[in-house]
Amino acid sequence: MAKVTFQTDLCKGCGLCVEACPKHILAIAREKINQKGYHPAEMTDQDACIACAFCATMCPDCIITVEK
Ligand code: SF4
Ligand code: SF4
Repeated sequence: MAKVTFQTDLCKGCGLCVEACPKHILAIAREKINQKGYHPAEMTDQDACIACAFCATMCPDCIITVEK
């Protein structure tokens, strides 16, 4: 099963990964604030992930890891 992890405290909440995901399973966590003071990206439905890694490719800060 695919597994996507974020270095959450390094996320700047730009939303590029959210836009890139073809399964629409990433979201900006409006109720959370990370160490940098941003709302971080989070996974909403891990089981639906197809491990395409579009999200990791798009992230300008390379904080997303996709494992198969
Ligand atoms: S690996 Fe692909 S399907 Fe999974 S969260 Fe990233 S963009 Fe979405
Ligand atoms: S692309 Fe990277 S920095 Fe931007 S919201 Fe997604 S995880 Fe955070």
